[in-house]
Amino acid sequence: MADVPYRQIHLDFHTSPLIPDVGSRFNAEEFARTLKKNHVNSINLFAKCHHGFYYYPAAVGKTHPSLAGGLDLLGEQMAACRREGIRAVVYTTVVWAENTCDEHPQWMQIDRNGVLGSRPPFLNDYNTETRAWRSLCMNNPGYADYLKREWKEIHERFHPDGLWIDIIFQFGCICPHCMAEMKQMNLDPQNPGDLLSHDRHVEIKFSREMYRYLKGIDKDWGIYFNGCPAEFDEQDDTALSTARRRECDDFIDIESLPSELWGYTHFPVLINYCNRFDKPVTMMNGKFHKTWGDFGTLRNSAALEYECFRALANGAGSCVGDQLHPEGKLDETVYDRIGRVFEQIEKKEPWCVNTKKISQIAVYAANRVLENERGFDATAMTINGANEGVYRMLSELHYLFDFVDFKDDISRYDLVILPDSVRLPPETAARISAYLAAGGKLLLTGESGLGIDGKGFALPELGLKHEGAEEYSPAYAALRPDQNIFRKIPPMDYAVYERGQRVDSGGNRVSAFLTLPYFNRTWEHFCSHRQTPPRAEPSRHPFAVEGNGFIYITHPLFRDYALNGCKVHKDIISGALEHLVAKPLVRGELPSTLEVTLRKRNGGMVLHLLHYIPMKRCKTVEIIEDVIPLYSLDLGLRADITPEKAYLAPDGKILDFTVRDGYIHCTVPEVRGHQMVVFE
Ligand SMILES: [Zn+2]
Repeated sequence: MADVPYRQIHLDFHTSPLIPDVGSRFNAEEFARTLKKNHVNSINLFAKCHHGFYYYPAAVGKTHPSLAGGLDLLGEQMAACRREGIRAVVYTTVVWAENTCDEHPQWMQIDRNGVLGSRPPFLNDYNTETRAWRSLCMNNPGYADYLKREWKEIHERFHPDGLWIDIIFQFGCICPHCMAEMKQMNLDPQNPGDLLSHDRHVEIKFSREMYRYLKGIDKDWGIYFNGCPAEFDEQDDTALSTARRRECDDFIDIESLPSELWGYTHFPVLINYCNRFDKPVTMMNGKFHKTWGDFGTLRNSAALEYECFRALANGAGSCVGDQLHPEGKLDETVYDRIGRVFEQIEKKEPWCVNTKKISQIAVYAANRVLENERGFDATAMTINGANEGVYRMLSELHYLFDFVDFKDDISRYDLVILPDSVRLPPETAARISAYLAAGGKLLLTGESGLGIDGKGFALPELGLKHEGAEEYSPAYAALRPDQNIFRKIPPMDYAVYERGQRVDSGGNRVSAFLTLPYFNRTWEHFCSHRQTPPRAEPSRHPFAVEGNGFIYITHPLFRDYALNGCKVHKDIISGALEHLVAKPLVRGELPSTLEVTLRKRNGGMVLHLLHYIPMKRCKTVEIIEDVIPLYSLDLGLRADITPEKAYLAPDGKILDFTVRDGYIHCTVPEVRGHQMVVFE
């Protein structure tokens, strides 16, 4: 796998035509020197922006009206970067291009409310996620032809290293082309699910056709369509699967500015999914305090470090987003801050490139948002509760895992988790049955394991009988001291907020029962401020069932944890994991704030330890300001290899270790933010 550069800048340049003197302070040598001095080795540069104007004398469309007379800004940027040995990728945009909407209104999308361009006409605000710009339709043949001419011109003029094609999204388009195609495909435009399927069909069809076209021009330039190639979809609809998107991407960029929209759990969830694909992956964050276009802000140094080093710990490079000032001069203060992090990445890189993730647990990514609702939810903007809860718990407990799809091979994993809402089609159920029969272990929660229709378990060997959704909610998990898998948890009736399932254990051992409330809270009967208290004695409804090779918990504890953060829910899952996973990859009394990853490298392995603590210090975003060091960390790694040598990287300090009981034991003297330990 050819890695793409690890120290990238994405240089936004969405510049209103109302702003004068565009590019007037641009100096090519100074521009490239600022990048080079600050350890940048790749940059995405703008051919065209969301305002729909070009930053070079374009033949195919309109050059930005305020661009200083005759200036070929993109051409000069590219030439200067190349002189400094910086890879130059050209950015362009498909669905959002305002000037193209003005010139070709017939190319716009029409949303299901009849809004032309899918943008409310009198919107003054910026913060409406997907509706701040008018949208063009990728299904319009006139527009597709225009884009082909644009891209041919970009190639002929600049021969860039790659083309970064933004905004591959349809927003429920019912334009005449889309309506006609839906009719032909037997899809009902009034049905939101059909409309979504058609959008996705158009996105994939467009990407495939354009990828073929672009590779026909030049097979060597890297092509990337920014349309969520890491979106979870279980691959249960092969033709519309995200895997079809990935076939059109030479690399994967995970756009994830950990501020308002994406937060700090978005990147790690997606990277634990696309880590398995044989494609270079880059984490995209930004120098902004909030998100794109947040001018006049600077990301805290510790936050920038954390995001970039977390990318390294997951085998990904970093692409830091910035926006160039309209006059074309890079801000020295911004690049100084980025440069201090990139300098460290450069030193760490030799132990990070060409490595492969080590994992032990497979997690089926929960795609259904609620009960049976088919979601392309994970437009990969928001992570659903079950997936976020799994990531949080496993990461805080230091288990190493992959998110997998229904079609994936699970035979090599020590444990498979079906979190909360993973209903199984027959082929996947058969795959899990074979895995169990071969000695594999299974943890299921909530309605996971049911067939697609939700009527009964699709895994008959579990012996469980589904009796429907639990009538009482919130209810209580009756944890008692004799229940060995939960023996570390002090006995009590613990609230479980989210509604569970009612099952007959079918003769399996019940590790904990459910204590019901006296009644559900309604307007006519309620007690105290919140949920009704538990009855005096547990019911005979199981809460946790322990069978041959599996544990089933009736309540969606992963989602509950992501929503409500009760530590006891994590303790319950931890008890189940200790029971099911005999030899975890990582052992030790480690704080929940420590993140651990392990990567294979040249027959040895690299352990990454990360310690940064995001805090909610304001109402809108999570803040990281300080680096709190950890000292004398004792840990054990399962000894799948017997190393000859261990050392800290990048400084090379030798680390003592012993091998006993099948584990490599060592004491890491200090973790100040990010520490790598190399075993050779
Ligand atoms: Zn359309």
